[in-house]
Amino acid sequence: MNETNTQYGGRPSLPMQGVPQPKRDEVLGLPRVHISTHPVMAHKMTALRDKNTQPPEFYRLVKEIGMLLAYEATANLALEPTDVETPLEWMTGQRLAGGIGVTPILRAGLGLAESFREVIPDVQIWHLWLRRDENTLQAMEYYNQLPHKVDLQVCYAVDPMLATGGSAIDAINILKVRGIPRLSYVGIIAAPYGLLKLSQTHPDIDIYVAALDESLNDRGYIMPGLGDAGDRQFGTF
Ligand code: URA
Repeated sequence: MNETNTQYGGRPSLPMQGVPQPKRDEVLGLPRVHISTHPVMAHKMTALRDKNTQPPEFYRLVKEIGMLLAYEATANLALEPTDVETPLEWMTGQRLAGGIGVTPILRAGLGLAESFREVIPDVQIWHLWLRRDENTLQAMEYYNQLPHKVDLQVCYAVDPMLATGGSAIDAINILKVRGIPRLSYVGIIAAPYGLLKLSQTHPDIDIYVAALDESLNDRGYIMPGLGDAGDRQFGTF
């Protein structure tokens, strides 16, 4: 490793340099991958990507895009019958069967977790902060508010940018140990590389994203992307 691809402490700063990446077309047909085709989503995505969009507007757009994603990702939730009395008579309605969990991968996933809360106010939010051991590349749980008692029909791991796929894969690994019957990943932009890795490592989950971009640059940023989703949401440039 030379000076151009290391930063302080010997940490690689160009982790994707020379790494072969699949093309967009090669991952478009992956099973259980849902890429939004909604025109309203495309419109909001353009505003989100714009470098002139400032953090307050950026965060508002993340939440709106997240609500559209939450709507798509919850389309197949299980229901159970429940009796309800209207002003006129009793009828049998339906309610969601079992709890719904959302695990924001901190910190960038916080905006998307709020979106799910808007759509389903009683979701459980299971915060998870992951850090990678630089030597072993193993995921370490830096902060974990996952409850001991699990009563969920599904849990959504949410993180706006599916870049190399590392955090998403690690988060799903951690959630799988909890015995949740169904897991999904929800993100805003995926790179073909991360999408393929996540789909191959966890073929049993559904993956929902608003857009599939072209590639990762040498630093691991999604191109054309939107830059750093955490910094742009929280104004930490
Ligand atoms: N994380 C980000 O915030 N942006 C990228 O492009 C890749 C990872």
